[in-house]
Amino acid sequence: MRLPKLRELKEAVTAVLSPRFTTRFPAAPCVVPERYRGKPEFDLDSCIGCGACVNVCPTLALTQTEDTEADPPVRKITLRHDTCIFCGNCSESCTTETGIRLSNEWDLAGLDREAMAETHEYELQLCEKCGAVVGTKKHLVWLYEKLGPLAYANPSLLIAKRAELTEEPQAVQHQGADTVQTSDFMRILCPKCKCELNIRP
Ligand code: SF4
Ligand code: SF4
Repeated sequence: MRLPKLRELKEAVTAVLSPRFTTRFPAAPCVVPERYRGKPEFDLDSCIGCGACVNVCPTLALTQTEDTEADPPVRKITLRHDTCIFCGNCSESCTTETGIRLSNEWDLAGLDREAMAETHEYELQLCEKCGAVVGTKKHLVWLYEKLGPLAYANPSLLIAKRAELTEEPQAVQHQGADTVQTSDFMRILCPKCKCELNIRP
């Protein structure tokens, strides 16, 4: 019986004389390891607004809405820091790999929940035939650049890239859901209209 008591006494004395294991936060800043998973941050140069991160966010901290009536039409992606659990799914699934990254900022406490949200807008490309959403303009240009010479098999990507280079206004806007014609080949089309163009009798 005496031996276990002595062991406990030794552990108590060791603990008293050892440096503290807990941090002194909030009295002193808490420095986290370099690879700590903290607040997600967008890199707006490499984020193309594709929305892949929104689809994998388990807490709906990332959401997206589309306003096709706006001029120009836009997709809005909102990140709420108050519901983010720093899981890293968004960063791991990012299409461009660097559009969103977890920083090691973690102290996000505050009293105003509305101030804990950030929203970014991306211009949308609508189908020039039926007006359906094709994707963001940045996404189409990114695909063109990613595919290289293979992009020449897809007129939509060529036209999107040319529009970015020339910044000329698009000559033809969507014209309603009438039948897709051969002359629509050199237009930006949604998958449905492209399919109709390719398999029409
Ligand atoms: S870290 Fe997780 S919870 Fe936070 S925004 Fe990314 S996917 Fe959503
Ligand atoms: S997946 Fe990446 S590129 Fe796409 S919207 Fe999210 S952060 Fe941006």
